[in-house]
Amino acid sequence: MYKKIISKNRNLSSYTTIKVGGVAEYFAEPRCIDEFYYLIEWCNLNNQRFQIIGAGSNLLINNIFIKGLVICTKKMKSLIIDSNSGVVEAEAGVMLPTLSNSLSKNGLQGGEWAVGIPGTLGGAIYMNAGTGNLSLAKNLISVKVINNKTHEKLEIEKKDINFEYRFSSFQNNDLAIISAKLHFEPNGKIKKLIQTTKNNLKSKTEKQPYHLPSFGSVFKNPKNGYAAKLIDDMDLKGYKIGDAEISKMHSNFIINNSSASAKDIYELITVIQQKVLQNKGIYLQPEVRMIGFDYPN
Ligand SMILES: Cc1cc2nc3c(=O)[nH]c(=O)nc-3n(C[C@H](O)[C@H](O)[C@H](O)COP(=O)(O)OP(=O)(O)OC[C@H]3O[C@@H](n4cnc5c(N)ncnc54)[C@H](O)[C@@H]3O)c2cc1C
Repeated sequence: MYKKIISKNRNLSSYTTIKVGGVAEYFAEPRCIDEFYYLIEWCNLNNQRFQIIGAGSNLLINNIFIKGLVICTKKMKSLIIDSNSGVVEAEAGVMLPTLSNSLSKNGLQGGEWAVGIPGTLGGAIYMNAGTGNLSLAKNLISVKVINNKTHEKLEIEKKDINFEYRFSSFQNNDLAIISAKLHFEPNGKIKKLIQTTKNNLKSKTEKQPYHLPSFGSVFKNPKNGYAAKLIDDMDLKGYKIGDAEISKMHSNFIINNSSASAKDIYELITVIQQKVLQNKGIYLQPEVRMIGFDYPN
């Protein structure tokens, strides 16, 4: 019966925040963990590979035919908050802004910073998304996963996960994140928390081209420096290839002015890397993940 949730030949551009993407041979948006599990078994039975996407807010998907199944977790959005203990159980598709706003409304402190990150919880754990030195790693208790190879369901405790700057061990293993348990500080002042959350979103939208199609920061900051500053130093602000442009507001953002192709964006990434390497001797490593390229993710 679950088979109905699988569709064919889905254009992925509307599933990424930069509004670029190829066509997935098979596509599904499971609404719960059982459906998600069914999809992984379906792939195994039908000898299909699969890739997981969340909100597609850190993704460059090439404009090609993507073989196999693409699973988008955005409809897995159960969120259970115990405001007394501060324990939160959330499925992988819960959006960080929803999580952040729900925490403040329940008097839980510690997630106010996450309001401006337009990704899912699963994507945020996988990427170790954050701001400054804040990330969800601090609040994590455990993560429930499915092993893509053995199909085992496991619960991994935080101590067994390696988190570094924009890195988690999920980037190096075969585990699909299905849900997570977190803890936030209970009994906070609700009004104050809501105000802080609002202010955080405001300050983010003032500094970044938040409402234009992008995938957030393109590059990780190198040790002891800022990618945006290095790109600025190359006078690349506003530089365009096709409809892809290095944002004038924040040089570590590439924006899609309307009909940028994955190739335009990829070339822009390469131009930045070459210029910074030639002039500063620094290799800028992309933060953005790529699907359908030879690029080593
Ligand atoms: C305007 C804007 C602002 C941003 N600001 C920030 C910021 O301040 N800080 C920051 O860190 N990032 C920021 N980002 C980047 C992005 O939002 C984060 O990296 C986010 O956590 C990605 O989540 P996602 O659900 O969109 O993941 P996707 O982009 O869909 O996927 C990213 C990677 O995670 C993997 N993945 C996703 N879900 C799962 C899962 N359930 N199980 C296993 N693997 C999974 C995918 O396979 C892919 O490799 C910003 C992006 C935008 C567009």
